[in-house]
Amino acid sequence: MKWSKTFIFTLREAPNDAELVSHKLLARGGFIRKIAPGIFVYQDLALRVLRKIESVIRKEMNRYATEILMPMVQPKELWEETNRWSEVSELLKFKNRADQMFCLGGTHEEVVTDVVRSDVRSYRDLPKFLYQIQTKYRDEIRPRYGLMRAREFIMKDAYSFDTTQEEAFKSYDHMFEAYNNIFKKLGLDYRSVTADAGNIGGTKTQEFQVLAEAGEDQLLVAGDLAYNVEIAPLDYKGSASDEAPKAVEEFATPGLKTIEDLSVSLNLPKENLVKTLFLKDDDGKPLCVLLRGSDELNAVKLKNLMKLANPPQMMSDDEVRQLTGASPGSCGPQGLKVAIYMDHHLKGMNNFVVGANKDGFHMKNVCPNRDFKPTAIGDVRLAKEGDVAPNGEKYKAYKGIEVGHIFYLGTKYSEAMKASYLDKNGRSQWIEMGCYGIGVTRTLQAAIEQNHDENGIIWPQEIAPYHVHLCVLDPKDEGLMKFAEGIEMQLEEKGYDVLLDDRDERPGIKFKDADLLGFPIRLNIGKKGFEAGEIDLVVRKTKEQIKLRPQDSFDKIMGLLK
Ligand code: ATP
Ligand code: MG
Repeated sequence: MKWSKTFIFTLREAPNDAELVSHKLLARGGFIRKIAPGIFVYQDLALRVLRKIESVIRKEMNRYATEILMPMVQPKELWEETNRWSEVSELLKFKNRADQMFCLGGTHEEVVTDVVRSDVRSYRDLPKFLYQIQTKYRDEIRPRYGLMRAREFIMKDAYSFDTTQEEAFKSYDHMFEAYNNIFKKLGLDYRSVTADAGNIGGTKTQEFQVLAEAGEDQLLVAGDLAYNVEIAPLDYKGSASDEAPKAVEEFATPGLKTIEDLSVSLNLPKENLVKTLFLKDDDGKPLCVLLRGSDELNAVKLKNLMKLANPPQMMSDDEVRQLTGASPGSCGPQGLKVAIYMDHHLKGMNNFVVGANKDGFHMKNVCPNRDFKPTAIGDVRLAKEGDVAPNGEKYKAYKGIEVGHIFYLGTKYSEAMKASYLDKNGRSQWIEMGCYGIGVTRTLQAAIEQNHDENGIIWPQEIAPYHVHLCVLDPKDEGLMKFAEGIEMQLEEKGYDVLLDDRDERPGIKFKDADLLGFPIRLNIGKKGFEAGEIDLVVRKTKEQIKLRPQDSFDKIMGLLK
C-alpha cells in the first residue's frame, strides 16, 4: 500500500487532553481522531489493528461459540425485566417519535437472554454459546485516556447457556482457555486475576489484565495466586490475644486528629493503635469498622462480608458527629448502637487505644466483647505488596489494564427473564448462564501502552497495522520505486502487509514517522545506497541496523518475520 493512497496524517504534537503515552501515540500517529469526549473515529491504521485483533478473537471463539450480531438499539421493556433500566447508570436512553423508550446497548445480557428463551425449549437444545463483536455505548461520566475509557467502544461479548452449574463451569473453563490463547497470540504480557463479581450477579469471575504502569487496576500476585487488589485475601495467622483486659482510662489528646499524630505523641507504632471508621450502606444505614492503625479498609471486601450489593460509602464528618457526638478523629466503638465490623488483623490485640467519642479525648484499654460487641470479625483490610497471601507466599504488586473479563452468572438473568428449559423429567429449570467480554479497542491501546519507546510505538507482529515499512527516500527515481514495489508485491503475496512511503518528504521526517508508527521492520531505500549495492534494514524493537545488498532484502525480511 502506498502512503499516498492511505489516510495517514501524523502530528508533531499530541492533543492537550492526552495524558497516557499510548493515547498520545495513537493521536500523533493518526490512528484515531476524537469527535466528542469518549467518541472516536478509528482511521485506517487503527482499523487494520482492530481487524487483526478481531481475527485472533474470532478464531478462538469459533471453537466454542456461534457468532451473531445483536442490535445496538434496545427497548426499555427488556431492561425492565431485570430491573437494570433504573440500576445501570451508564445507559444512554432516548425516545423515538412514537414516544417509545430505548437505550444504546452497553452490554447485551437482556437481548441475548431474550433470543435464547424464544428458541430454546428442552435440555436437548442446550448447551448454546453465542458471541458478537460490536460497538457498545456506555455513558461514562468521565471518559478519559483515549480508547481506554471511552463512551463508544468495540467489545467482543459472549454468553453461555447450560443446563447445570457443572456444565456452566465447563463453559467458563473453555472461555478461560480461549482468553489465554487470545492474549498470548496477541503478543501481550498479561495476567489473569480473580476479581470481585460486582453487582452483575454470579460468583466466579476473573479478569485478564495487560501489565502496564499506567493501568488503573492494582494486582497482587503470590505464586500461582493472582488477584485484583479489590478482593485479594489475607489470612490471620496469629493467635488471639492473651493480654488481660485492663481498666478503661480516658485521656486528653488535644489537637491529635490522625493515627499519625497519635502514634508520634504516644510513642506507639501505628499498628498498635486502632482506627475507627464510619460508613453507610445503600439504604443510608450507618456502620462502624475497626482496623489496626497501619491498615487501610478495603470497602469491596467489607461489602462481601456484609453481603451487600455495593461497597458502603464513607460518612461525612457531619454525619459522624451526629452519630457519635465527636469529630472523626476522636471516635471509638464503645457505646455506639451500630453494627461493628472488626478486621481479623485485630485478633491479636486487646486494650485498644481509640477515640473517646468526645472531641480532644481518647481512651486506653477498650476491649472487644467487654466494652463493645463486634457484629462480625473478618478480612476487610486492603492487601499490599509484601503481605502474606493465603498460600504463605508474599504478594507482589503490579498494575494492569483490564482487557477481558469472564463471569459465571448462574440464573440471575434467566430467572428474571423467565428463560427456562425442560429437563429429562419434563420439569422446568432455569438456564445457567455465563458472560465473557473483551475490550477490543481497549486492547489496541493497551498493546501500545505496553510496547513503545521514546520514539513511538513498537507493534507486536501479530497485530501490527503493517509488517514492513518501505521508506523510499527518492520516490521520484523510477528504478528505486520499481525495486520497492517489487519487494512490496513479493511480501504481499506471502500474506504480509507493507506500507510504501512514497511521499515527497525529507528522509528525517520519513524516519521519524516510521519510528512513530512502529511497524516491526523498516527498509531504508535511498538512491545512493541502492546504486552502491547497500541498503539499511532497521528492526523497530531492537533498533538493530542491518546493512544488506538490495537483492537480499526480501529473504532477510522473510527470515525476520518468521
Ligand atoms: P471497567 O471496570 O474498566 O469499567 P467493566 O468491568 O465495566 O470495565 P465489562 O462490563 O466487564 O467492563 O466489559 C468487558 C470489557 O469491555 C472490559 O474488560 C474492558 O476491556 C472493556 N470496556 C469496558 N468499559 C470500557 C470503556 N468505557 N472503554 C473501553 N473499553 C471498555
Ligand atoms: Mg469488568
